[in-house]
Amino acid sequence: MNKRVFLVAIILGAATLFTACEDDGDLALPEITIMELGEGSSHSNDHTAIIGGEVHIEVEIIAEGKINTVQIIIHSEGEHKSVVDGGEWELDTTYTKFSGLKNTTFHEHLEIADWAEPGEYHFDFIVTDLEGNQSSADAELELVEE
Ligand SMILES: [Zn+2]
Repeated sequence: MNKRVFLVAIILGAATLFTACEDDGDLALPEITIMELGEGSSHSNDHTAIIGGEVHIEVEIIAEGKINTVQIIIHSEGEHKSVVDGGEWELDTTYTKFSGLKNTTFHEHLEIADWAEPGEYHFDFIVTDLEGNQSSADAELELVEE
């Protein structure tokens, strides 16, 4: 991206933000910062996790409108395997235990099934606040055999 395009992108981004703020008034969207994503046993941050093990997730959340739900989706980036083949491993989990908090450090481990295929996965972290505002952050996650 050259400098001029980048500048235009920033201006457009600022305009969008400004409009969004005007539309729904007061409260800012939840802010999500992925601090660490990696192997569960070592709490690493290399965006790699071992199949049959756990993925370590550490995320800072600031939600002016107070957290309602936190949803995590992990799905394969690769070729989609047919359901006839047994399907592919993916994860979709929603937490409600952070409900009512304005900010928190989310630190959880999620199990990765031992039948998951190795490869590139996509990690989505979605926060919805009590006002119904939603933000998301994403990252790449690689699953490897032990
Ligand atoms: Zn951890």
